[in-house]
Amino acid sequence: MDKRTHFSLWYIVFAFLVMFFIQGILYGPNIETVPYSDFINLVKQGKIEKVLLSDKLITATPTKEYVEGLEKSGKIPKWKMKKHQIITSVRVQDPQLISFLLSHNVRFAAKLENKWLSEFFFSWVLPLILLFGLWSVIFRKMGQGGPGLLSIGKSKAKVYEEKETGVTFEDVAGQDEAKEELKEIIEFLKYPERYQNIGGRLPKGILLVGPPGTGKTLLAKAVAGEAHVPFLSISGSDFVEMFVGVGAARVRDLFNEAEKRAPCIIFIDEIDALGKARGIGGLAGNDEREQTLNQLLAEMDGFDTKKGVIILAATNRPEILDPALLRAGRFDRQILVDRPDILGREAILKVHAKKVKMADDVDLKVIAKRTPGFVGADLANLINEAALLAVRKGKDKVTMEEMEEAIDRIVAGLEKKKRVMNKKEKEIVAVHETGHALVAESVPNADPVHRISIIPRGIGALGYTLQLPTEDRYLMTKEELLDKIAVLLGGRGAEEITFKEISTGAQNDLERATDIARRMVMSYGMSEKLGLVTFEKSSHPTFLEGNYPLPGQGGGKEFSEKTAYMIDEEVKEIIQKSYARVKEILETHRDDLRKVSETLMEREVLEGDEFRKMIGKETTSENSKKEE
Ligand code: ADP
Ligand code: MG
Ligand code: ZN
Repeated sequence: MDKRTHFSLWYIVFAFLVMFFIQGILYGPNIETVPYSDFINLVKQGKIEKVLLSDKLITATPTKEYVEGLEKSGKIPKWKMKKHQIITSVRVQDPQLISFLLSHNVRFAAKLENKWLSEFFFSWVLPLILLFGLWSVIFRKMGQGGPGLLSIGKSKAKVYEEKETGVTFEDVAGQDEAKEELKEIIEFLKYPERYQNIGGRLPKGILLVGPPGTGKTLLAKAVAGEAHVPFLSISGSDFVEMFVGVGAARVRDLFNEAEKRAPCIIFIDEIDALGKARGIGGLAGNDEREQTLNQLLAEMDGFDTKKGVIILAATNRPEILDPALLRAGRFDRQILVDRPDILGREAILKVHAKKVKMADDVDLKVIAKRTPGFVGADLANLINEAALLAVRKGKDKVTMEEMEEAIDRIVAGLEKKKRVMNKKEKEIVAVHETGHALVAESVPNADPVHRISIIPRGIGALGYTLQLPTEDRYLMTKEELLDKIAVLLGGRGAEEITFKEISTGAQNDLERATDIARRMVMSYGMSEKLGLVTFEKSSHPTFLEGNYPLPGQGGGKEFSEKTAYMIDEEVKEIIQKSYARVKEILETHRDDLRKVSETLMEREVLEGDEFRKMIGKETTSENSKKEE
């Protein structure tokens, strides 16, 4: 739109120039430039009536007869409106010119050089024109990337539309689970009629969750590419504009556009920028975000999936999203796009290695082993870096040497960002997680281990042991809670047994264990000393789950200092007893602890069944059985 206004402005300038030009031809004088000697001759022949002398130029007006003569010979064109002839000649250093003119009775005058006009032009008009030109170029450039000055306040959404993304699932390596889950969506986008006929309800919104660089954006594009549908994308931060109301208008536009193009995909990248829980932050600028978020929620509610539009969104901080966004009918399906394990990394390396010339000595398996914690983006970067190094060294292929060097460079960069572990840290994490898993398999009431991983996830957690419950639970017995505490303490216990020292990695475990113990004492009346009383008020100050203070911390206390002391003592005792129990369990499993943690260092991920096989526990059924 701003292009238009520029055009019309230039158009007017151009029109003026053309008018001046035509006028000059029609009405202006006919100028004849002659050599100085010819001019002298003309004066001698009496054909010059008057002369205007300036520093460099002689401007002479010839006599009427001379002009008529020219006219007759056709030297002045017939269409000239004004038969006005001027003869000019460049002035030669001639001190006798004045006396010569005087002697031939030619009227003459000197002309002051009219410099102000040219000065004005060169010092004012020209710079202004240049500045204006530069300015318009810059703003046109900016208009492509960020908001141009002229587009502020207009509601046109900066929707990036790709008719065909050209990305397929082959370009996304490693994320097999995520791909599997997205296949249904692709089927739907390909054949919406089928689903419309049967009438099943598909998820409207799917949230891709995972650390940065794991391929969320890539996956979203691949879904569009596989289904051959248009891909409308917008970034959450694009919505956050200066003026209130712009974001909401953009959301409306986005959904209108999508409806026109159905079947298609709407992709909202970095949705956390606009979907932050309302009330978090609390500074200025929130109004706008809230309005935008509300508009998004409203559009999603009023939207019918049957039209063939699927909304994908990506975030690496799902925990700060407004709960309203995750409710049924909105982004109610979440797909984890996690950091790749060693096999995933190898697959990703393979995808990107195709783009460069690799020497035969490059073993991607070895590279994958050397790059724990790397995400897809890091691996793509690694290959690129290696290729650049090879070029710098004048090689025609990338060899193992460059790959190793590139790893070192990227690791150095990532270490600054605290995203990779060194060998010692990796060992500690492996032992720690094995400890959790061993205790989980040894106590009678814990959920079976589903997976152990030492691939770092997000900030804080370095590895994880995933336990999947075998059934839905609504009640828990004291024994079950104690076992839960034991599993949580297993990590620290293993560290202490193996290294005779403990790291800071167990802080979150301890917090959670203490929390459970405190609840047992204060809310569930499970303490022998304090007996069957509850000290917790059941009304939570805020509706946000997980946000309420622990009993006895935030709300008004309803018990004495002495009781508080007793509660603390009880909690301490539960934890201490559990810890002693955990260490005992682990001591008897010392060999398993070493064996499993070593395998974990090597492989990074262990599935539950493999783990049980290693510790000689083929089946989980007897132990995971729960007594009600
Ligand atoms: P995210 O959106 O999760 O931050 P991107 O999708 O933008 O990550 O990934 C950035 C780049 O990293 C991609 O363009 C791709 O080159 C590379 N990449 C990331 N994950 C993968 C993967 N699983 N397979 C292949 N390449 C990947
Ligand atoms: Mg992204
Ligand atoms: Zn732990």
